[in-house]
Amino acid sequence: MRKKIVAANWKMNLTLDKGEQLVNDILAAGLKLAEGHEVVIAPPFPYLVKIKQLIRNYPGISLAAQNCYSEKSGAYTGEVSAEMLQSIGVDYVILGHSERREYFAESNAQLAKKIDLALANGIKPIFCCGEPLEIRQAETQNDYVSKQLEESLFHLDAAALKNIVIAYEPIWAIGTGLTASAQQAQDMHAFIRAKIAEKYGREAALGLTILYGGSAKPSNAKELFACADVDGGLIGGASLVAADFTAIVQSF
Ligand code: 13P
Repeated sequence: MRKKIVAANWKMNLTLDKGEQLVNDILAAGLKLAEGHEVVIAPPFPYLVKIKQLIRNYPGISLAAQNCYSEKSGAYTGEVSAEMLQSIGVDYVILGHSERREYFAESNAQLAKKIDLALANGIKPIFCCGEPLEIRQAETQNDYVSKQLEESLFHLDAAALKNIVIAYEPIWAIGTGLTASAQQAQDMHAFIRAKIAEKYGREAALGLTILYGGSAKPSNAKELFACADVDGGLIGGASLVAADFTAIVQSF
């Protein structure tokens, strides 16, 4: 059975003390994780080492970075490499978030390089894809997401693909309070899985974890997670409130 994941993407929020408090509150809630279920926390870079210490005795809780750079090392002031993340014990890295694509002009080709470097360093990419509103209105979202997958992931072989998690995040649903309906999420997740099956075979597709992101909250998580092809969520705003995040984690 494929892994179910609820991941917290803090984005550029919280100070270190508030972040520690949040993690301690989540741990104190005594999460009951079923077999094969995982919680992933993605704090900003400066907090990774500290948060790693806090979660080290909790086997179902992993650490993610929100980004890494597309080159191995060198004169790239201000950037963070996949190797650096590996050296501090990061398990996952979020790549291709729509905010990075939009504000930092990350292209599908650059993301392919980031994916390769993350995998080469034993870090599992959480690869984000998803369409803007005008594409959804034009009903061409499947073509749009196809291109993102083809150009950033489809150079991988089947063994490498096993270490990928995909997060479908329709841009029009991120931070807007406008969630994709369970049907819209399920349709796209099923489409992504079919696309993976076409390229890598049915077994690979069935093993792939596909998360939904975009205004997920305690009131809609159950319905979303009940969809056959939705394997969890990538949570922004609601991951900053311990009670909301833990309620989402318990929504399977
Ligand atoms: P919100 O949950 O705040 O809509 O953000 C979703 C997201 O971008 C997670 O990566």
